[in-house]
Amino acid sequence: MTQRPRGRAFFANPGPTNIPDSVLRAMDRPSIDFNDPDFVAVFDPAVAALKRLLGTTGEVFLYASSGHGAWEATLVNLFSPGETLLMLDSGYFSESWTRMAGKFGLEVQTVAADRRLGADPAALTAALRADTGQRIRAVCAVHNETSTGVVLPLPEIRAAIDAAGHPALLLADTISSFVSLPLQMDAWGIDAVVGGGQKGLMLPTGIAFTAAGARAMAAHGQARIARHYFDWSVMLTRPHRSFVGTVPTSFFYGLAEALRLIEEEGLEAVLARHHRLAEAVRRAVRAWSGNDGPQLYCADPARVSDSVTAVLMPEGHDAEALRATARGRFNVSLGTGLGGLGGKVFRIGHLGDLNEPMVIGTLGAVEMSLRLTRVPHSQGGVAAAMDWLAA
Ligand SMILES: *Cc1c(COP(=O)(O)O)cnc(C)c1O
Repeated sequence: MTQRPRGRAFFANPGPTNIPDSVLRAMDRPSIDFNDPDFVAVFDPAVAALKRLLGTTGEVFLYASSGHGAWEATLVNLFSPGETLLMLDSGYFSESWTRMAGKFGLEVQTVAADRRLGADPAALTAALRADTGQRIRAVCAVHNETSTGVVLPLPEIRAAIDAAGHPALLLADTISSFVSLPLQMDAWGIDAVVGGGQKGLMLPTGIAFTAAGARAMAAHGQARIARHYFDWSVMLTRPHRSFVGTVPTSFFYGLAEALRLIEEEGLEAVLARHHRLAEAVRRAVRAWSGNDGPQLYCADPARVSDSVTAVLMPEGHDAEALRATARGRFNVSLGTGLGGLGGKVFRIGHLGDLNEPMVIGTLGAVEMSLRLTRVPHSQGGVAAAMDWLAA
């Protein structure tokens, strides 16, 4: 038997994320009838708080699933087989959502992008103008592409659709941006928002949701893809207006506590903390990038993500070896490179329940692992992060 490492494990993945102790404690409780008034008194305020955080007065449909369930639910409730979607290419997650849509008989056109920069709104406008028959039913955007650490400016995406005068819906995957990056669903003209629990919401994996505005609900009325567990119309007949079947009650005690933590800190302060910690990580990476070292994968400073940083290794150096050293020697878990970025990129998650010493600890482990695995770099990444955090 190998000895378990001493001390706390540091978890720097971009999802799932660290679960606050008080959320774990809140979920540690006996079963309750989901129609019990005591449970309804937890459920209803939680949904109201989610709507406030989303900036919407629309419907919120919740599922007992990971984020994939919310992706699927959103597609099957809004479209009919043979209809066309326009996906903004961003990386592993836009690819996965595209593949899923194909399996439901949807045709997916893609707006190609340089993935280190993210999609160009002008290319989106052009693609919609070219759709003279207005066959495209929706534009799908991954707000925060978790595989690359590149953010799409959703208001600019909305403006690009409006510039084309096209009636397509705007769908946004906010699974790794919700409560980590600014989001104003209604004000930004987003018709459906896909979200999940195990990233910025700091919950165990197993709860996800779609928020649907009026235009999305109108589209739902026409949508013909077969569905049952995920059917919003069935959900609307249920007492909680969500869930077909048993409500996963334990999650709502955790969600209520997570929402209490967020509202106690204040959303603005939560977002500011994410920015401050993310900027510390970026300053460390920029310092390491000297001497032909690793660099930020995101090449547009205006689109860097405050929830995850993807770090591109120098040619010929394996990100997986670095991750193995960080985990084996220092008990620090870093995110892997996804899809075509496997071995080329490692990721530092900096969303959810996180503070300065946790970030500095992770950066220290990365800097030591760079030395141990003989990856060229400039020293001083941790020092640059501290300079920023202590300024
Ligand atoms: C994590 C993630 C998903 C998938 O969610 P799962 O919970 O892993 O099913 C989808 N989109 C984005 C942007 C994500 O970060």
